[in-house]
Amino acid sequence: MSLINKSIATIMPYLPKWFAKPFAKPYVAGEDIQSVIEIVKKLNNNGFSTTIDILGEHVHSETEANNVLNQYTKLIQSISKNNLDSTISIKLTHLGLSLNEELAKKNILELAHYGNKDNIGITIDMENSIYTSITLDLFKEALAIHDGFGAVIQAYLYRSIEDLKKLDSPKLNLRICKGIYKESPDLALNDRLKINENYILLVETILKGKGYACIATHDLELINQIEKFIEKNEISPHRFEFQVLFGVPMGNKLDELKEKGYKVRIYVPFGEAWFEYSIRRLKENPKIISYIIGNIFKK
Ligand SMILES: Cc1cc2nc3c(=O)[nH]c(=O)nc-3n(C[C@H](O)[C@H](O)[C@H](O)COP(=O)(O)OP(=O)(O)OC[C@H]3O[C@@H](n4cnc5c(N)ncnc54)[C@H](O)[C@@H]3O)c2cc1C
Repeated sequence: MSLINKSIATIMPYLPKWFAKPFAKPYVAGEDIQSVIEIVKKLNNNGFSTTIDILGEHVHSETEANNVLNQYTKLIQSISKNNLDSTISIKLTHLGLSLNEELAKKNILELAHYGNKDNIGITIDMENSIYTSITLDLFKEALAIHDGFGAVIQAYLYRSIEDLKKLDSPKLNLRICKGIYKESPDLALNDRLKINENYILLVETILKGKGYACIATHDLELINQIEKFIEKNEISPHRFEFQVLFGVPMGNKLDELKEKGYKVRIYVPFGEAWFEYSIRRLKENPKIISYIIGNIFKK
C-alpha cells in the first residue's frame, strides 16, 4: 500500500484538480472566507482555538502582494466581527518578500496596525532558511507595534537555539515546528532523532525562560515527552499551547490535551491555492492517501 500511496503522491501534481480535490479536502477549509469562518466556528464550539492561513506564497507582483494584504485585513475584520477565538498565520513571501524586502516590510507593518486595532494575534510562518534572519528582524519590528505578534523556529536548523536565546522575553510567542523545507546539511539536521532532541531542547528552553511556547507537532512521542516535562516542572498552562494542522488524524490525543486544561490550536488553511498546499502535505505523508480512499468508499 505504501508504494501505491507514494506513487499517487508523486503523480498528483500532473492530474486535473477535480481528481485531487477529495485528497485535499481534509486539509483545507474551503476556498473563501465564509467557508473558513463556518469551520472555525465549529472548531471553537468544540473547544479548539485556531489560527487561519490564506494559502499561497511567493507572489509575482506588487499588486498581488497588496491584494494578499487586503485579503488578510478582511480576514481580521471577519474574525473580530464573528467574535472567533482565532489568530492568523502568514508567510512573508505571500506579502512580497521574495520580490522586495521593503514591500514585505510595508505590508507586514501595516497588517500589525490592523491586528493591533482589532486585537487579533498574528504569527509569521517560517519559510526557507534564506528568509530566516529577515523574518525574525521583521517579526521584532512588528512586535513593537502589536504585542500579539508571534514567530516560528524550526527544530531542524542548527541556528534555532541561538535565535531563541536572543528572542526570549515575556512578550515572546514562539511556535516550534520541525521544519518542512529542503535545507542543506550545513544548515540543518537531517536525522529524525536529532531533530526531535533539538525540538525538546527548544521547547524546554522557552518554558524555562520567559516566553510562551506553541508546540506544533503531530508526533505523539514528542507530545508525550513534553507533557511529562510540563507536569514534572509544574509549568502553568498559561505558558504554552499545542498546535496541529487541520485534518491530520490525531486519534483522541487532542481531547486528552484539552481535558488536562491545555490549549489546543488548529492551523486552518483556506484559499484558492489549495492544490499546491495539499500536494505538499501529501508528499510529506503519502500514508494519508489510504485514509482518504477508505473514507470515500465508506461514504
Ligand atoms: C501548527 C503547525 C504550524 C506549522 N508551521 C510551520 C512553519 O511555519 N514552517 C515550517 O517549516 N513548518 C511548519 N509546520 C510543519 C512542520 O515543520 C512539520 O513539517 C510537520 O508538522 C510534520 O512534522 P511533525 O512534527 O508532525 O512530525 P512527523 O515526524 O513528520 O510526523 C509525526 C506523525 O504525524 C503524522 N503526520 C505528520 N504530518 C501529517 C500529515 N500531513 N497528514 C497525516 N499525518 C501526518 C506522521 O505520519 C507521523 O506519524 C507546521 C506544523 C504545524 C503542526
